[in-house]
Amino acid sequence: TLARAIARRTPLHPVATGYRLVHGEGDGLPSLVVDRYDDVLVVQLLSAGLETQRAHIVDALQELLSPRGILARNDPAVRTREGLQRTVEVLAGEVPDTIEITEHGVRYLAALRTGQKTGAFLDQRDNRALIGALARGRALDCFSYHGSFALHLARHAEHVTAVDVSAAALERAGENAARNGYTNITPVVADAFEYLRQARTNGDRFDTIVVDPPAFAKNRASVEHAMRGYADINRIAMQLLAPGGLMFTASCSHHVHVPDFLEVLEYAAAESGRSIAIRQITLQPLDHPILLTVPETGYLKGALLEAMD
Ligand code: SAH
Repeated sequence: TLARAIARRTPLHPVATGYRLVHGEGDGLPSLVVDRYDDVLVVQLLSAGLETQRAHIVDALQELLSPRGILARNDPAVRTREGLQRTVEVLAGEVPDTIEITEHGVRYLAALRTGQKTGAFLDQRDNRALIGALARGRALDCFSYHGSFALHLARHAEHVTAVDVSAAALERAGENAARNGYTNITPVVADAFEYLRQARTNGDRFDTIVVDPPAFAKNRASVEHAMRGYADINRIAMQLLAPGGLMFTASCSHHVHVPDFLEVLEYAAAESGRSIAIRQITLQPLDHPILLTVPETGYLKGALLEAMD
């Protein structure tokens, strides 16, 4: 099963050096995550049963991939519910703190020990390429983190503003911009909601906008609250689109399903007073398979929108 999962990723070799090799149950390996960052592997063992197989998994990965090192990012909260400790530890070889990966020709650093998830948001690779290729004019990347969308926007847009509430995250974004030789990205440390409202007050307009917020719904109980958050941020972003402007918007909440997300976007569009077309709905990339019979394997959905007025 492991070998099959790895073989399925072959089409990604020319595209990226960072991608998911094993997406848990999506690849028939429940509770196991394996991400490749160049020649290093980052694994997550998210159940007590799987933990007992740790040595066997490490052996199999070494045999199949001969990585420079294997890091266990066993720090997700779900480990506690399984009665397991939350730890970050090297399981084999040597693992650097950061490592450069490439993605559709853009280079960025992944923070393996301290970054979100296993070091980077590998799941947005295709979406970054999608909006990156269409980007133009004044661009805005909301919830930028290490600037991964901003870097792709910078290739075709005149100028990119990268907004995140975390100064540390944006510092990384700046380093990543320099790494690619891009000088047209301006980081802004701000709450995205406040930044967008202020921009609206100022009468600013953007030709390209990305909205990639964190999971507003962490559990089922908070879905309603989350839906309001998504509706709010999308409505204001729509209002900031220049005529003909493009927007890519995403939700990574497990508990917000595709129909809910579309409903939020319909509502946001109606409230925005703009005429917004939906050009494309996106799900997860090849390396994050969604099994139709296992809905929990799906969490990321996105939409490419266009201002028709
Ligand atoms: N777009 C990124 C991933 C975004 S993760 C990528 O493709 O890699 C979510 C980011 O939102 C985090 O960096 C977090 O710091 C930031 N964030 C959370 N709440 C925020 C808020 N209210 N305003 C701005 N940024 C916020």
